Amino acid sequence: MCGIVGYVGQQEAAPILLDGLRRLEYRGYDSAGIAVCGDGQLRVKKSRGRLQVLSDLTHDGADLPGHLGIGHTRWATHGEPNDINAHPHVSQSGRIAVVHNGIIENYAELKEQLLHKGYGFRSETDTEVVAQLLDYYYADCGDIFEAMIRMLHAVDGAYALGIICADYPDRLLCARKDAPLLLGFGEGENMIASDVTAIIRHTRDIAYL
Ligand code: GLU
Repeated sequence: MCGIVGYVGQQEAAPILLDGLRRLEYRGYDSAGIAVCGDGQLRVKKSRGRLQVLSDLTHDGADLPGHLGIGHTRWATHGEPNDINAHPHVSQSGRIAVVHNGIIENYAELKEQLLHKGYGFRSETDTEVVAQLLDYYYADCGDIFEAMIRMLHAVDGAYALGIICADYPDRLLCARKDAPLLLGFGEGENMIASDVTAIIRHTRDIAYL
């Protein structure tokens, strides 16, 4: 089961995310991507194939400035391995980005409901419903934490989730159920990861969710 890394702190997020993903490569993957929040907007790069492709594509992360970000290596379960199905997935408003390991079992019915509400889907993944559902609830209540709680009540399945919202440039959101995710607490920075090897260079103060 592939990997997640997230960073919030004083350093540039993208190089740290790429380094963390590199340390999770042993878990296997078919595509990789990162999303970084900087200057009030989200920048996303993702691609099929080796992590080196993503590093080259982003000039080792320099193209995505910002201090908050999430990264992902994917092992496709829903939708073929390609650039569009690679994570992160961005919500319709462009304000929320999501990475996910696992499977959202009830994604088909959630997708149907969201299509009826006017949401469009770009990918074939189960994961994209998480981004669009969050978007829907966030538009309704205006609070990303409340939206997150509502979304988690709606989804069934196994998940580790890393989420960022452009309106909350100093908040790294995460949740897990039946998939691994841990928190790393540093000096003026915090991280999330699927596996301790991804963040051990930054902190040894770890909490398993
Ligand atoms: N089910 C998701 C997908 O196929 C996540 C796969 C994974 O765990 O990487 O995109």
